[in-house]
Amino acid sequence: MYNQDLYDVLVIGAGHAGTEAALAAARMGARTMLMTMNIFTIGQMSCNPAIGGVAKGQLVRELDALGGEMGLAIDDAGIQFRMLNKSKGPAVWSPRAQADRVQYATRVRFACEQQPNLEIRQDMATGIVVRNGQITGVRTMTGSVIETRTVVLTAGTFLNGIIHVGLTNYSAGRAGEFAAKGMTESLLELGFETGRLKTGTPPRLNGRTIDFSKTESQPGDEPPPPFSFRHDKLTLEQMPCHLTYTNEETHAILRTGLDRSPMYSGRIQGVGPRYCPSIEDKITRFAERTRHQIFLEPEGRQTTEYYVNGFSTSLPEEVQVKAIHTIPGLENVQVTRTGYAVEYDYFPPTQLHPWLETKPVANLFFAGQVNGTTGYEEAAVQGFMAGVNAVLKTRGEEPFILNRSEAYIGVLIDDLVTKGTIEPYRMFTSRAEYRLLLRQDNADLRLLPHGHRLGLIDDTTHQNLQNKKRGIKETIAALRELYVRPEEINELLLAKGTPPITQNENLQKILRRPEIQLSELRGFGRLELWDQWNDKFWQNVAEQVEIEIKYAGFIEREREAIARFERLEEKKLPLSFDYHTLSALSAEAREKLNKLRPASIGQAARISGVSPADVTVLLMHLRRGFTNGAEEAGVSRETELTELEE
Ligand SMILES: Cc1cc2nc3c(=O)[nH]c(=O)nc-3n(C[C@H](O)[C@H](O)[C@H](O)COP(=O)(O)OP(=O)(O)OC[C@H]3O[C@@H](n4cnc5c(N)ncnc54)[C@H](O)[C@@H]3O)c2cc1C
Repeated sequence: MYNQDLYDVLVIGAGHAGTEAALAAARMGARTMLMTMNIFTIGQMSCNPAIGGVAKGQLVRELDALGGEMGLAIDDAGIQFRMLNKSKGPAVWSPRAQADRVQYATRVRFACEQQPNLEIRQDMATGIVVRNGQITGVRTMTGSVIETRTVVLTAGTFLNGIIHVGLTNYSAGRAGEFAAKGMTESLLELGFETGRLKTGTPPRLNGRTIDFSKTESQPGDEPPPPFSFRHDKLTLEQMPCHLTYTNEETHAILRTGLDRSPMYSGRIQGVGPRYCPSIEDKITRFAERTRHQIFLEPEGRQTTEYYVNGFSTSLPEEVQVKAIHTIPGLENVQVTRTGYAVEYDYFPPTQLHPWLETKPVANLFFAGQVNGTTGYEEAAVQGFMAGVNAVLKTRGEEPFILNRSEAYIGVLIDDLVTKGTIEPYRMFTSRAEYRLLLRQDNADLRLLPHGHRLGLIDDTTHQNLQNKKRGIKETIAALRELYVRPEEINELLLAKGTPPITQNENLQKILRRPEIQLSELRGFGRLELWDQWNDKFWQNVAEQVEIEIKYAGFIEREREAIARFERLEEKKLPLSFDYHTLSALSAEAREKLNKLRPASIGQAARISGVSPADVTVLLMHLRRGFTNGAEEAGVSRETELTELEE
């Protein structure tokens, strides 16, 4: 018997999407169930033991600012922390941390277990129950039907999952775990479209048998930069990773297995992640390269196992082992786990509204790998957004949508629901148009107020943010008012290789010079920032002040572009309008608009096949008010286009 008769939110799956969905929902006060096939795998990292990386780190920082769990969990379970891309501009700085895999999952499971309003249940969901187009319950493998007002499906790679190693394959969601049966079929009956994707993982090694003297050590940053805005500093002993390379002998051995590769022999139908290719993909697509990087990453503090990053493969087992033994440092290594590929069902995400509720069934939300994404971070942010929106739906409140100008989360979800995906989608900084403003360092300034409004960020954290905002504003203003004389500053300017000044200049202008750092201006004038320089709060203020001043021109241009973008996003389109009645639209636009049902003019404009002329027609109808039957009312394509030309 379940402890509640009716849940507000039932989350299926306790991976990265599911745990964030359940925690957010329960923290917002909803009666929540987290149902998962195996309680021991809550929060499990299926593949690499790491969180963050380029663009993914930005997602985690955003999630943290909204009140999600991932940033807190990795800070507790991390064994090495780095800020990637530090040699480039701040728009692409990205935090990444190696995790103790077991500790990470334990940490996430404990957060769920301790959470009031959240009940955890081990069971497999085999179908959903729908009445009048709206979800009412979930059927389970043990024969129960659990009543719920909303459902968030986060089944990961488990739906009809098949594992492939060489020409061998078997049903599984992940190595050592059952595939989930019944759910896809239940959704197909309700009119959902489905597709197949695949992903893969490398072998794992016993670190005791690795000769690290033949590899390059890669230490973490000191001091380790925390992921969470809610942590000031981290105190831990960091573990190094190690770098080694494949060689031509490795590639020759791998080639001997290609005829038995499930990918190349056509056994796998699903499309794999283009940007996370297997080693067999790499030696085929980049045949001219004589070596590929291999990162040896510790799986944790209390295990000797190592993850072989860069060597994802589903070639036959004996080929994997033989090829690994040709890599410097790995000549005598013991393989503890074989690499494999997994093929699974996903649901093309154009079937979703921008708040992740499905279009065919009301009150049903999808998040994570089932939407065609790959990666823990991509999954976690969707889970959070779906959990929040499920709660808002039960309360009859407006959905919570982040747009492309506010967050990478907005870019991710907008890409999915507007363009869809036919291959595993992962986040990149290049996907974001406004990446100078969507930085990892200012995610709190952008998003923390939303988290507070939703009840997921406490008052003290929010107050600290207000203080930080004030500190930044006042310091920027003070630097504009503070003038220095040539004789005070020219020695510094010349030493830094930048021209001296000939008349008094304010410090803001001096700081705009790329050669000058804010820290070098300390001591000029009396500023609170100078007095508190080593305080963590003021270090964060200084970071923002420096970026805002140095990149002021670019930032201003991006803000103007965002203002234009937001004007179109604010123009809402009706969700039930029949676009076939607008003859002034091109035939392709009519079809796509009816299928995708964009929420705004902005979203409509991003649909491929909707031209600028179509957008103008939509704008005109928005002014008039959308009414079905425009054609019968005598509005022809010719009259509309004439009106437009006028
Ligand atoms: C072999 C492999 C290799 C991967 N390689 C990479 C990679 O190289 N790079 C990368 O970024 N990502 C990789 N991933 C993907 C990454 O693991 C996922 O993107 C991420 O875990 C997705 O999170 P999720 O929450 O959507 O699903 P998952 O983490 O898969 O969690 C799904 C959860 O749902 C539960 N579940 C499933 N069906 C049911 C059901 N019917 N009833 C109850 N519970 C259910 C499962 O038990 C599990 O707890 C790989 C995954 C696998 C399996």
